[in-house]
Amino acid sequence: MSLKDLLDSSKDKSLSGQKWHMLRQTIIKRLLSVGNATIAELSAELQSSVPTVTKAVNELLPEGYIIDLGKITNSGGRRPSLYSINPTCAYFLGVEVSIASMSIGLQNIKNEFVSIELGTSFVLENTQESLFEFCNLIKSFVEDCSVEKKMIVGVCINFSGRINSMEGFSYNYFFSENRPLTEIISEQLDMPVHLENDTRAMTFGEYSEGVVDDEQNIIFLNYSWGVAIGMITDGKLYYGKSGYSGEFGHSTIFDNGIMCQCGKLGCLETEISGWSLVNQFKKALKEGKQSKILVDDSSPVLQHHAIIAGAFNLEDPLCVDLVTKQSEKMGRYLSILLNIFNPDLLVIGGDFSQLGDYVLLPIQSGLKKYSLGLVNRDMKLKKSTLGRRAGVIGACCVIKEKMLSPLINN
Ligand SMILES: [Zn+2]
Repeated sequence: MSLKDLLDSSKDKSLSGQKWHMLRQTIIKRLLSVGNATIAELSAELQSSVPTVTKAVNELLPEGYIIDLGKITNSGGRRPSLYSINPTCAYFLGVEVSIASMSIGLQNIKNEFVSIELGTSFVLENTQESLFEFCNLIKSFVEDCSVEKKMIVGVCINFSGRINSMEGFSYNYFFSENRPLTEIISEQLDMPVHLENDTRAMTFGEYSEGVVDDEQNIIFLNYSWGVAIGMITDGKLYYGKSGYSGEFGHSTIFDNGIMCQCGKLGCLETEISGWSLVNQFKKALKEGKQSKILVDDSSPVLQHHAIIAGAFNLEDPLCVDLVTKQSEKMGRYLSILLNIFNPDLLVIGGDFSQLGDYVLLPIQSGLKKYSLGLVNRDMKLKKSTLGRRAGVIGACCVIKEKMLSPLINN
């Protein structure tokens, strides 16, 4: 039996058949959300008789959805068995693509990684060849995993830029007017495909498995080569009408005449981002400032990583100075978001977040200086705990949530 059979509506259309199907789904939902349980616990929680729950559990066991963990120890009497969701009953594939590399991971239904590869070399170009190479890398990863492909329920792929997750279009990469990108990739991989904006997936990763405790209103800042935010409101990812929310980096803020990557002038990214850091670094060198870092003619993305590493590993004064100046400015403009949204938690993620206090303290200082005291006092500021894995973990969580929505949201 595949998970699809359990998620589909009952083939038996009689009232008793539908009730039975719903009971089986509810048992799986309970084991997924709360954890292991005995038949007595399931019976009490689901308000169904012990013989009925026993019958359902005895059906779900050989079908592979649940496993018997053995007898539990108690103070006396007959020792009941403890049941758990079978971690191998379904798998979820997550892929994150950036300009110069990609990361892939496969998680089981209990959010445990079976396999993960971070930073595989891949050059993202807007060509058919690049798309097929990308699909082939995913296929090879799946072939090399110890998991049968039919057990993988679906894949979520994160791209930067404008993504319409509902319709399956990516507007910055591999855009085709005629067909959604999800259809094209799904044909290649032979599995359901979901597209997600990279920052939104990272946000969901931190919410599901990262730094978030019980906070329900969160802003996640992806402070990297580009700058964007993800938002969780009342425990749900916020998309906006067509999925383009969170483009904080392209807010026109500065009157500096600098052309942004998006084609507009003076966006936030033109002074606060990885790519503007590279420009500021080169300008400072031309003006005679000294640095231990050598930026050659390698790709600008690699130069951005070199400057971040220079601040982190070598405490290079020029790198540290540029990063802290940018970050205080970042705090100033984040304070606008705080005043508007009044979140429980602001998470700083992305490449810059690995610099810890070099970034957090100036951001905090900017926030304190420019946001309303009451709003700021209400909010926690934390650094991402998932780091480079946030995107892949988020992608696995997004596809799991999407595919299991009949079990998770009913
Ligand atoms: Zn822009």
